[in-house]
Amino acid sequence: MNNNYKKGTKAVWAGEGDVNVKGAATTPIVNSVAFAYDDLEEWYDVSKGNKPGYIYSRNTNPTVAALEEKIRVLEDAEAATSFATGMAGISNTLFTFLTAGKKVVSIKDSYGGTSKMFLDFLPKYNVDVELCDTTDHEALEAAIAKGCDVVYLETPTNPTLKIIDIERLSKAAKAVGAIVLVDNTFATPINQNPLQLGADIVIHSATKYLCGHSDAMGGLIAGKKELVQKVFQFREINGASLQADTAYMIARGMKTLELRIERQNASALKIAAFLKAHNKVNDVFYPGLETHTGHDIAKKQMRGFGGMMSFVLNGGWSSVQKFLPALKLVHRAASLGSVSTLAGPPRTTSHVELTEAQRKQLGIPEGLIRYSVGIENVDDLLNDLDEALKTV
Ligand SMILES: *Cc1c(COP(=O)(O)O)cnc(C)c1O
Repeated sequence: MNNNYKKGTKAVWAGEGDVNVKGAATTPIVNSVAFAYDDLEEWYDVSKGNKPGYIYSRNTNPTVAALEEKIRVLEDAEAATSFATGMAGISNTLFTFLTAGKKVVSIKDSYGGTSKMFLDFLPKYNVDVELCDTTDHEALEAAIAKGCDVVYLETPTNPTLKIIDIERLSKAAKAVGAIVLVDNTFATPINQNPLQLGADIVIHSATKYLCGHSDAMGGLIAGKKELVQKVFQFREINGASLQADTAYMIARGMKTLELRIERQNASALKIAAFLKAHNKVNDVFYPGLETHTGHDIAKKQMRGFGGMMSFVLNGGWSSVQKFLPALKLVHRAASLGSVSTLAGPPRTTSHVELTEAQRKQLGIPEGLIRYSVGIENVDDLLNDLDEALKTV
């Protein structure tokens, strides 16, 4: 792959054509569990990794490899590997680098499942976890400087779209020899490339924007070869591998990633500005707005501000109860990053496991609505929001 190609071209062509089926216009789904060899020496060489090839699909599979190659190229990484879900990617990566006695520094606002790893599971394995206020860079730098093995970041965050400076915290991590992991699910490689900002591994829930159609789950990581190899070796044994037919669905979605993200970036910016100016809306969290506290950092490290936003209605929860059912062009559902617009309150989606008091402590008002902008015509979305706001 010519590295001078732009992202939209890479998304279509990277990884394609490596599965040898003469004339196929797209990567075939190879639903084979095992791969046969007549030559015993060749079989041995491939199974030892001394020769390229496939042995067993829990380890590697041609269709899955094509998808891994797509994310490797789009994140400009040395290596990539895949998982059954985004959480499998996150937990496999954390368990690979965090063994008893090691320390991770992270933020309080990470994705719900990731938070549970930090609060419940990793401490049980005697991993030391320190979580800082998400946008307090001084506190994060101080925590990192005390010494740690892993710095785990996510930006923009869920559901209030906080922004953290990847380059600044990667420098702090490097100074103490820690590796930096970044969940890039919200931004996608179209809007942000954490490896270019100093991260060692970038993680995606492919279930969201990469797939883009709410019809397949997967996880992908990309980064330094030596590190990705370690995670791969753990994943091939614990078995959280991605299926070939699911990999095909995600790769198919990724071919239109740039088209979808450019559309969603543009629509979200218009919608955020509309909501910001509306008298029924108290607050809008969108990094593309100049009033957003993380706007300057976002401008520095992102090429677009993404399709995710959240906003607070006047009147709290009772307004949410009237407003959400009045929206016509949304799935009232938990996921995000799809071609169709999705909306929901954190109390039934990202932060369902917390109490009202805990949500308040995290700065999540009960009147908050998370809105994932789809690829519909933006005028229809604006009208839909305008009509539904009349019920508030
Ligand atoms: C959804 C999500 C995950 C988890 O991905 P799954 O595919 O649902 O396991 C991780 N991080 C972020 C930011 C997410 O939005």
